[in-house]
Amino acid sequence: MRLILLGAPGAGKGTVAKLLTQIDGSVQISTGDILRGAVRDGTDLGKEAEGYMNRGELVPDSLIMGIMGERLLEDDCKSGFLLDGFPRTIPQAEELKTLLEKLNIDLDFAVNLNVPKDVILDRLTTRRTCSNPECQAIYNVKSMPSKVEGICDKCGSPTIQRDDETEEAITKRLDTFNEQTAPLVDFYRDEGLLLDVNATSSDVVVSTIKEKLAG
Ligand code: AMP
Repeated sequence: MRLILLGAPGAGKGTVAKLLTQIDGSVQISTGDILRGAVRDGTDLGKEAEGYMNRGELVPDSLIMGIMGERLLEDDCKSGFLLDGFPRTIPQAEELKTLLEKLNIDLDFAVNLNVPKDVILDRLTTRRTCSNPECQAIYNVKSMPSKVEGICDKCGSPTIQRDDETEEAITKRLDTFNEQTAPLVDFYRDEGLLLDVNATSSDVVVSTIKEKLAG
């Protein structure tokens, strides 16, 4: 399958993408994960992106398009892809459209994960991520805590709150989303590619997507 996952930070794009990869081997491509990896590795890309990310702002479109222009050419994308966190602006969506046309690739659709704002805020402030870069398991101190507080069940590393998950950065990320990313819903509706879903349960989202793909 070839899908775009749209939705505010904390809407569950990553969780839904991981569930979908198990269906047909499509790969999850998360620009946030790619950027966090670059920051961790101290690459030029990471150094350029880190300040924007910690402030809850978007990194410049040119950096993102450079990453995605290469990533979509990799072999594993041939079996399908789930774009998680990209595109995030209208210029990115327009450039993606041109790129896919050039590569002769059709998208199935863009899924808009609709989650009420209070649920989003609660999810983001209570989210914890495994600090081991190879693991990055996600927990929630309220709804899905690790067995031992602060320790990852899978690999035993400490779980941490991401730098961009402080209340200040979250508020900024949500404002950024409303200003720059929410307009993509209309963009994909106009393209005839929008699937709007009520996304409080990721299992319901996955079954809605499966039904739509089955036609
Ligand atoms: P995420 O994990 O998807 O919430 O992304 C974390 C941060 O990475 C965002 O707050 C942005 O600073 C940056 N980022 C991720 N994807 C993009 C994108 N497509 N365009 C611009 N910035 C991005």
